[in-house]
Amino acid sequence: MTAPGIRTERLSAFEELAEWQRALRAQFPIIATHPDLAYLDSAATAQKPQAVLDAVQTYLTTANANAGRGTYTWANLTTDLVEETRDRVRRFLGDPDAEQSAVHFTSGATEGLRTIARDWLPAFLADGDEIIVPAGDHQANIVPWLDAQQALARQGVHIRVRQMPYQQASGDYDHTALADLAGPRTRFVAVTHVHHVYGGNMNIHRIREAVGPDAVLCLDAAQSVGHLPVSVTDLDVDFAVFSGHKAMALPGTGAIWARQARGPGFTPGGWSGTPNTVGIASLTAALDWLDTAGTDRIDRWTVALTARLTDGLRHLDAYEILGCQTSLAVDSPVQQRCGIVTFRHRAIDSGDLGFILFSHGFMVRSDNHCQGSAGEQTSSVRVSLHVYNSVEEIDRLLSVLASLV
Ligand code: PMP
Repeated sequence: MTAPGIRTERLSAFEELAEWQRALRAQFPIIATHPDLAYLDSAATAQKPQAVLDAVQTYLTTANANAGRGTYTWANLTTDLVEETRDRVRRFLGDPDAEQSAVHFTSGATEGLRTIARDWLPAFLADGDEIIVPAGDHQANIVPWLDAQQALARQGVHIRVRQMPYQQASGDYDHTALADLAGPRTRFVAVTHVHHVYGGNMNIHRIREAVGPDAVLCLDAAQSVGHLPVSVTDLDVDFAVFSGHKAMALPGTGAIWARQARGPGFTPGGWSGTPNTVGIASLTAALDWLDTAGTDRIDRWTVALTARLTDGLRHLDAYEILGCQTSLAVDSPVQQRCGIVTFRHRAIDSGDLGFILFSHGFMVRSDNHCQGSAGEQTSSVRVSLHVYNSVEEIDRLLSVLASLV
């Protein structure tokens, strides 16, 4: 088995990685019991390993109660679970200092971003301040900030929303234009770690360089947590929001990690009632599983598969790839494409292509992917990968795509 993008002397390392991947793939019951289907929609939600299913069963059969209320054993176990999972999230995100940060559980990334926009951002901003919003990213990382602008305006506080500039050819942010755009009134910058359509790692270090040391950076890590190592310390961000369900926990899970260094402490407003305790149990198990598997190896695997798919597609004239056209190999010096490839057929409607692919057993996403107004407005097909996907699936997909000329 060869992997384009990996130099010859590293082939045996790739063989090792492939063996490791086969063992992990076998741990996903829904994947293992459906060998004729290929799940290529992990950017929407990820499949769950047996360890997560077991943790759910264990929690529900040994400790199910409400958190922070009762004084009996099951209630105490549940309260401990919730508090320990906050620390688990911190450790997973490379945050060494529990005193300086808060972790709040949500139903997913959308609720996380919306909560920051509703409960934290307004008190941080003053009349005349500016925020930068990535208008070609996921709507979930655009709409809440525009809503906050309107809510502030109703109170007589007028803030300016500036659009994050993009490099059209690569789908990456334009760091040079951003440096010119950011000024002394730029207080808050919303960014995405891995783009949900173009699949690029958006170079967060370069964003920090461009906007300077004082602006609050809020990271939408929905497509990076669980796919690659994410360290809030290394990235120097102030908020990180992710979807637990895309990181192999149950649907209805997610978290906000917030640091108190560049602004007031983060406390979600209002009483949010009973937490999703079973979801939180699944989140701890999912983060344990991911740490044991190793997010660095998961990253190497999905980047290698992505390079194989991108390179294969580039040789098929009938298709147009969105975003960067270069082969983004594991050791490429250019921006990496992390597990997501989006494309369209020049003659077949993307919705139809989705149906055709499913008739061959491939589950992909085809529409305009909830992208904001500065993004592609025409529908396309998105293939998004996780560690359970195999080289065989990519090769089979490429041969079906090649037959549709
Ligand atoms: N941000 C990005 C980059 C996403 O890809 C998604 C989900 N597609 C979201 C936010 C929203 O996540 P959730 O479905 O967990 O609310």
